[in-house]
Formats: sequence, structure tokens, C-alpha cells
Amino acid sequence: MIGFIKLLSRNRLSLAGLVVIILVIFTALITPILPISDPDVIDTKNRFKTPFTTDALLGTDHLGRDLMSRLLWGTRLSLAVGFCAACIAALIGSALGIIAGFYASRVDNIIMRGIDMLMAFPYILLALAIVAALGPGLFNALIAVAIVNIPFFARNIRGVTLGITHKEYIDAARLSGMTDTRIIITEVLPNVFPVIVIAMSTTVGWMILETAGLSFLGLGSQPPQADLGSMLGEARAALITSPYTSVVPGAMILIIVMAINLLGDGIRDALDPRLKSGVLSSPRPRTLVANYNEAKNLDRSELLSVSKLRTQFHIGKQNYKAVDGVSIYAKKGACLGIIGESGSGKSVTALSIMGLVSSPPGIITGGYVNYKGSNLIHTNDQELQSLRGNKISYVFQDPLSSLHPLYTVQKQLEEAIKAHQPVSQEEVYQRSIELLKSVRIPNPEQRAKDYPHQLSGGMRQRVNIAMALANDPEIIIADEPTTALDVTVQAQILSLFRELTRERGLAIIFITHDFGVVSQICDEVAVMYAGKIVEYGPSEMILNHPAHPYTSRLIGCVPELGKGKRELASIDGLPPMVDRLGHGCAFAPRCEKTISECLNNDIKLKNINANTQVRCLKPEIHL
Ligand code: ADP
Ligand code: MG
Repeated sequence: MIGFIKLLSRNRLSLAGLVVIILVIFTALITPILPISDPDVIDTKNRFKTPFTTDALLGTDHLGRDLMSRLLWGTRLSLAVGFCAACIAALIGSALGIIAGFYASRVDNIIMRGIDMLMAFPYILLALAIVAALGPGLFNALIAVAIVNIPFFARNIRGVTLGITHKEYIDAARLSGMTDTRIIITEVLPNVFPVIVIAMSTTVGWMILETAGLSFLGLGSQPPQADLGSMLGEARAALITSPYTSVVPGAMILIIVMAINLLGDGIRDALDPRLKSGVLSSPRPRTLVANYNEAKNLDRSELLSVSKLRTQFHIGKQNYKAVDGVSIYAKKGACLGIIGESGSGKSVTALSIMGLVSSPPGIITGGYVNYKGSNLIHTNDQELQSLRGNKISYVFQDPLSSLHPLYTVQKQLEEAIKAHQPVSQEEVYQRSIELLKSVRIPNPEQRAKDYPHQLSGGMRQRVNIAMALANDPEIIIADEPTTALDVTVQAQILSLFRELTRERGLAIIFITHDFGVVSQICDEVAVMYAGKIVEYGPSEMILNHPAHPYTSRLIGCVPELGKGKRELASIDGLPPMVDRLGHGCAFAPRCEKTISECLNNDIKLKNINANTQVRCLKPEIHL
């Protein structure tokens, strides 16, 4: 609850709405015990007294009744009717929606066609017709308003339910022998409940307005009973001579409906799980960069180098140092591996290169990225955009979610090409088929017409690689491209990458958490731990003679085939949280060789031979 209020309070307006609505409801609740006069007592001597002139604070109406008292009692009634109508509509509408969505086929057809029939009438006309049939009166107005709002709930909830009923956990519940009723109550309802609350919070306002509308027309509350709509209706005749009689109930309706709508917006944002983790704003086109500039005299002959890169996530008071001073070099025709446990900052390093870390909360606070003499951290947006997917391209871990589900493979490839090259339709088609061939997709003309879901996992990843190759890149950054694939497909994809480096002279930055993969394709490897590089050098050297205890422990975790049985090593403990890193070596708590110096001082990355650097006070010395 406190968390919810916190989320809500990020949206100032909805917090204001909440405060106002609480005040209004509180006043409505205590109205019976307030020392105010009877709202229905007629006193024709004192008709149309203006506000603040007599005992009646807000003046009197055409029958001399105290407007203040009528307003308070009227608000109480209008709120009650509005909330009741919303609850009834939500209850019946959601129940119909859940049943229609859950049982689908014929049940769905019958219910939804009924709902469609309701929706075929303009709803205020329908409400009028219902009240006309039932007879005027507040209760009938309530029923009418509830009925016309049922379709809104039924349609919304049916849609959500339909999406849920095919999920695996519902199948699992069925297999475990649960009855339909139980599945609906324990599995479906909790999932659709937030949607019901959101729909209610946004419709209560309408319902109050609609009831007021019916009362205004004389079909809702009957004299002498006051509700906001009937007060407005009665004041209509005196609108010109005594405007305050209309303004008083009108302003109250405005305040209530505005407050409820603002609050409804806030509730929707706070309950939406996608917005829960992030700030309520869309990410920028590139990562924020703190105010600094360290890049001087960049070397034009270098293809791509990253220097002392620092990327942090600022969330509330927390400061997550995801990447803390990382330097790496990509060379033409070579593959650089970045390896480390999950959460060590590999992806953030890779994404920072092209400003793809989402901001907020991400921010680059130090370092530079040298691409042939220009610093990508501080270039302008156009230059960065012209490089993205062109000279530097990415391949991500999940091949399915990186492809658009509604476009064919060919269309997506063509889009990737056209983004950077002005070529004719015929040419772009030929290019896309060639690309599919180059990543060894059999029968490319046919496969090009397929949608992503029609391809196998390995095939999808090849399409992603083909897209990355679309504009003859110089560098491909591959973020765990084979983690979601099985070992045989992984081997094929790896050999494809190897060929690309050899034949096209591509530079590849290959992120992985698997030393097996490193041994197969990487020329050099950087081992990352808690946002820092702890060992960096030629992969053969590091695989055979790891110098950092973390590296050797990681290598120890790789099973070896054909070497007989041995106990598989694992590293106890977990990587540290990057928001509370102290001084000293971050690996020290999990290391066997820790000495007191490891804990106190920042440890520098030191060369232990010409090519290899290690961040350790007691490295196993290389030859
Ligand atoms: P990996 O090495 O598994 O690719 P990442 O680079 O994705 O790890 O993450 C590095 C660290 O940054 C992790 O501790 C993670 O919690 C943090 N992090 C990543 N993305 C975000 C984000 N959007 N908000 C907050 N922290 C993040
Ligand atoms: Mg990652």
C-alpha cells in the first residue's frame, strides 16, 4: 500500500486528485452529523438569497432551501449512486467478460453478440429508454447507468482474459485437476483484477456525470430529494437572475469528476507493471551523458576502442555502478570476448558504446569511445544514428523478441538496408536474398516470405545476423547471441561468426558467459566482474593460464568431455550488488586468497606480461 502511494505520488496531479476526492468523500460521510439545516425545508420568504448574506452560507434556491445543505446531501447521494453504478457495471461486466474470454467459442459468441446489441444504441439514449421503461427515480437511473456501462467492462476484460487463457500456467492448473471455477478464481481473476480496478477508476467519473444527466432531465432523483444533477436542473430557470444556484452544484460536479479522472490516470500508471520499474517517462533516443569531456587527440588508426567507460543507473537515491572504468579494444578481423557472470555489466558496456542504454535511469559519467578518431559518447545524434546498424551493428540474445512478429523476414531485412542505403526495390530484394544466403539459410527465396514464428530458433538468429550484416558493418557487437540456442545450432552460429571475421575482416565483440564459446571463437578476452575488467589478454593464454582467481574459478566451472568424472566446481556466493561496492577487490569475499590489502585499497589493472593485464594483488604469474 505504501509502495502504491509512493508510485502514485510521482504523478503530482493524481495525488492532488486523491486528496480532493478523500476530502469530498469524508465530507459526504460526516454530512449527517454536521450542524446544517434540513435540505428539504422550504422557506419561500427567503428565496434566492445570495451567498454569505444570511445564515445560509451559499445562499438559498428558488424555494428558499439552504443551498449549502442541499449541496452536501446532494454530493453524498451522487457519489453513492455513481460508485454503486460503477460497482454493479464492473461486477456484471467483468463476470461476463471473464466467462466469454475463458470459455471462448460459442459462449463467447452469444455473450459478445448480446453486448454488441447493447453497444449498438447511443448510451445516453439507451439509458433514457431504460428509465422510461422502469419509471423515473434515482434507483432506476442507477440501474440504467450501470447497464449502459456493462459493455465497456465486458469488452475490456474479455480481451485480457482471452490473452491469459492460453498461457502455460492455466494449462498447468488444468492438468493439476482444478475445476474451471477454481481456475477462474485463483488464476484468471488475480490477473485481470488490476484491469478491473483501472477501468473502474476511469469510469466512476462518467457514471456520476451520467446519473447527474438523468437527474437533470428529471428522470433521476425526484423532488424534494437533492442530488447534484437535480439541483442543476432546478436551477436552470434562474440561470440568468441567480447564477450561483447553478454554479454551486456545477462546480462540485466539475471538482469531483476532475479529481476522479486525475486519480484514475495515476492509478492506471501505478498499477501498470511495465511502468512500475521505470520512471513514468519514455526513454531518450540516446543515453544521457554527464557533463564531462576527457577525450583528447583520439587515434584515427584505431577501429574501435572504449576507454575508462563508466555507466551508472541513478534510481532514487541509489547509484548502481554497472560499468566502472572499462577499457577494451576491437581489432579488424578479430573477435574480442567479454565474459562474466550474469549482472557483471557486459550488456551495459556493449549498449553504452552506441548510446543504447535506456535513460532514465542510465547515465554515462566517464570515459570515451573512439571510433576512427571520433568520440561516440559526445558525437551529435545524426552521426550516431548514421552509424547504428550501419558500420556498427548489434545481435541480441533472444532472436524472437528482436524480430517484429507481424512482418516477414524479407520486409525486415529490406528495412534494415533501406535505413542506410538509397537503393531500388529490385536491388534491395536481391540484397536481402544474398544476405540470407550469406548466413547459410537454405532456400532463401522461400524463407524470406516467412514470418519470424515460422522459423526455428537457429534460423531466427541467422536472420538477426543477416540484418546486422545488411550494411556491411565493420563491427558487430553480439550480446550472448547463442545463449538461447541448443549446442548444435550454437556451433553453427559460432562458425558463421568465425567465417565473417576471416572473410570480411569484421571486428566482433562477443559477449558470453561461457568459456567454451570463448575458446571456440575469441582471439582476445576480457573477464568482467562487478562492472570492472579483472583480466584482459589473448584468449589462449587466459584459458590455459588464468591469472586472476575469478577467471580460474570460472574456467573450473566448465565441464570437459572425455576427461573422466570429476566434481564440477562452482563459485560460492553471489556477485555483489553494484550499488554498494566498497573499496578493494569486489571478488575478495568469494576468493580463497584474500589478504587484508585486498579489502582496503583500489586495485589497479596491471600488466603481468606484454599482452595480459590482471586486477589482482596475488595473480598466478604467467610465463
Ligand atoms: P550482464 O553482464 O548480465 O549483461 P548487465 O550489463 O545487464 O549484466 O547489468 C549490469 C548491472 O546493471 C546489473 O547489476 C544490473 O542490475 C544493472 N542494470 C542493468 N540495467 C539496469 C536498469 N535498467 N536499471 C537499473 N539497473 C540496471
Ligand atoms: Mg546481459
